[in-house]
Amino acid sequence: MKKINIEDWQPETLSVRAGSEHTAFGENSEAIFLTSSFVFENAAQAAARFGGQEPGNIYSRFTNPTVTMFQNKLAALEGAESCVATASGMSAILACVMGLCSAGDHVIASRSIFGTSVQLFSNILARWGLQVTFVSLTDPVAWKNAVQPNTKLFFVETPSNPLTEVCDISELAAIAHQAGALLAVDNCFCTPALQKPLDLGADIIIHSATKYIDGHGRCLGGAVLGKKDVLEPVYGFLRTAGPTMSAFNAWVFLKGLETLHIRMDAHSRNALALAQWLEQQPKISRVYYPGLDSHPQHALAMRQQKTGGAIVSFDVKGGKEAAWQLIDATQMISITANLGDAKSTITHPATTTHSRVSAEARTVAGIGDGLVRIAVGLEHIEDIKNDLSFLSS
Ligand SMILES: *Cc1c(COP(=O)(O)O)cnc(C)c1O
Repeated sequence: MKKINIEDWQPETLSVRAGSEHTAFGENSEAIFLTSSFVFENAAQAAARFGGQEPGNIYSRFTNPTVTMFQNKLAALEGAESCVATASGMSAILACVMGLCSAGDHVIASRSIFGTSVQLFSNILARWGLQVTFVSLTDPVAWKNAVQPNTKLFFVETPSNPLTEVCDISELAAIAHQAGALLAVDNCFCTPALQKPLDLGADIIIHSATKYIDGHGRCLGGAVLGKKDVLEPVYGFLRTAGPTMSAFNAWVFLKGLETLHIRMDAHSRNALALAQWLEQQPKISRVYYPGLDSHPQHALAMRQQKTGGAIVSFDVKGGKEAAWQLIDATQMISITANLGDAKSTITHPATTTHSRVSAEARTVAGIGDGLVRIAVGLEHIEDIKNDLSFLSS
């Protein structure tokens, strides 16, 4: 009989099967190891485990079997040598910077990153001596010009939130490497089902598992992925400082990942259909979705991503008042700032996720008062469109 080679598995199979381990009970669904510590056979084994001469679990802040299964599954999907799981997406970003940078180092970050990521860099890490420069996601010359001798890290999200701008990962990786820096990509919007940043030359992937990896809006979690030696200090920070993933959350994410590919395909189909419909509505002046021909980086997005993703944003004519009217007229879609849920969600970025950004900075970023973002869920497309019938009324 020919032995199955896991290396040959397709992504869908990796989602379902990679990383699974089983106890002597023979359970088919992976076990949740709710234990804070692990028992040793004797004092010598305890010493060998602590000394690193013998592999094995010690304490769940260091490693936990359920968390390890999640890490191995996500690493297989991203094509990463190594993965460390974290308590949230924000702690993944924190661990990445704390592990790889020191006081006096310089980070170049895209201006179009998650609002809390901006706060983390500007209000917290800056107090500890990290220098940060924010530049336009889509302007490679700006990245080149921002490089300093102490630049250690490039940090991007692509597609960006909420305007779905796309950067060329390979091009940015080349600029980072020329500067002796690493490129970190927050792959939360696409997940490995739609985009594989490491294959395109990125060094590090950040995830908020809270979003599409869970896929059902249940738990917070995150992950950092990359080469083993790059991740060593990131793991060292997590193990010591403690924002690690709980075994229960890891189990929820393991289950979520099993359906990642079919969910992302279905989210994407709905999102494209909704974006095309929105483009025809007279009350809308512009739709932002990488899967549309009208998107300025459509060709790049389609080269780099399997689909346009699940996030659609659009400008409603009439500014904030009209945007709020549209949101308040929905009866099914959830009015919440979260995304990555089976349930469609709708939000007004200018007064929620980006309300702490100054009005001038919002204008520079192109986030207008009429902008609405929908994270398109898994409901039937006709029901989603019907819930937005304010637009055709
Ligand atoms: C939500 C989000 C984060 C933060 O993740 P949490 O799990 O909420 O801490 C980071 N990056 C992006 C792109 C996100 O959408």
